[in-house]
Amino acid sequence: MISKILIANRGEIALRVLRACKELGIATVAVHSTADANAMHVRLADESVCIGPPPSRDSYLNIHQIVAACEITGADAVHPGYGFLSENAKFADILDAHGITFIGPTAEHIRMMGDKITAKQTAVALGIPVVPGSDGEVTPENALETARKIGFPVLIKATAGGGGRGMKVAKTEADLEEAFNTARSEAAAAFGNDAVYMEKYLGKPRHIEVQVVGDGEGNAIHLGERDCSLQRRHQKVWEEANSPALNVEQRMKIGQICADAMKKMKYRGAGTIEFLYENGEFYFIEMNTRLQVEHPITEAITGIDLVHEQIRVASGAGLSVTQEEIHFSGHAIECRINAEDPRTFVPSPGTITHFHAPGGLGVRVDSGAYAGYKIPPYYDSLIGKLIVHGRTRVECMMRLRRVLDEFVVDGIKTTLPLFQDLVSNQDIANGDYDIHWLEKYLADEKAQG
Ligand code: ADP
Repeated sequence: MISKILIANRGEIALRVLRACKELGIATVAVHSTADANAMHVRLADESVCIGPPPSRDSYLNIHQIVAACEITGADAVHPGYGFLSENAKFADILDAHGITFIGPTAEHIRMMGDKITAKQTAVALGIPVVPGSDGEVTPENALETARKIGFPVLIKATAGGGGRGMKVAKTEADLEEAFNTARSEAAAAFGNDAVYMEKYLGKPRHIEVQVVGDGEGNAIHLGERDCSLQRRHQKVWEEANSPALNVEQRMKIGQICADAMKKMKYRGAGTIEFLYENGEFYFIEMNTRLQVEHPITEAITGIDLVHEQIRVASGAGLSVTQEEIHFSGHAIECRINAEDPRTFVPSPGTITHFHAPGGLGVRVDSGAYAGYKIPPYYDSLIGKLIVHGRTRVECMMRLRRVLDEFVVDGIKTTLPLFQDLVSNQDIANGDYDIHWLEKYLADEKAQG
């Protein structure tokens, strides 16, 4: 059994994990950089250890310091949250060598899904539908032939990719060379690996992802899907569960395909299988072997605490529910509140002077922010998540409109005004949007001044 968890993360997700530990009666250790000494997760944890200066590579990505913090405090498990070391197979191996439980999948499964070419080949072998594309890596020699075979437009993607980097579209043959070279050099700069592969570029897809959890022994369940089509620069902005685009049969069908694949793999922990969805077809793009930012909307419609499940399966206690026991109830929407200018998206670090989180039925705010909190400039700009649940999508939208009016964050700029616009938009009300909708909307707004 796990008795003390070190949370190798910061911000709202560190707090989220801490809450689950408290509920399960597990002691907590927070780690933090010098810039986060006053952060909420540090204040609320049973113990805390400073692991280095502000830059992530010296603190939240510093494996030696984190292992040392485990040894000093006697933590017997580590929860990595998302980002940072959450999909770092070497970290999982090192913890294992020290007899510390990594709350996540095996290092082998992280590696398998971390490399996108291998991930896609694995998906095919497990019976998951994929985007038509190259068989493996694409080289300068076979790029043109491969693109002709797939059919233009094509997308060139970094095999080590993440965060939308190293991704370039070639609309026609004339664009190919430049797109290929740009993708390769971006990939080399961002990931130290210039390998790229090619996919059919889908014109108007939605981004739909399926939440899975496995016990590592061959049992696995799905918790339905999330629609994360509202994106800016491949970054999700607003997510909903269920997807306005799917009916019950489609939901259960793709969910079952994913759960069966995880059973075959003997996957352990929480994971998300991401798809593009167009004309009724699903196309696998990647699997994230960790908890995701948008997991609370799944929790809202299923009532299942995903962090509890992660901790249970990591400690060998198995899943707390069966597929038959999972029922989807109502609709949930998450808005990512970033410390950014809502028009230019330029980060807006600084001190929050007033902070008032909304409340009431069906409202959840996951945030480490408070009045007087100084947002450090070193990390990503997510300062909180607003999650609203209603019995129907209409009720959820009505509630969201009310809640956005109540939310006060003063002293810095945030993306809250963007959500006030979106919640009143007719396309959004109709659930009628694809992955390009938000960028087009923002460009039109800008043009109108
Ligand atoms: P990353 O890991 O860099 O985020 P993903 O493979 O998850 O890369 O893709 C990120 C986003 O890029 C998707 O949500 C989608 O918006 C877009 N995208 C990826 N593959 C395709 C494709 N074949 N056609 C069109 N858009 C795509």
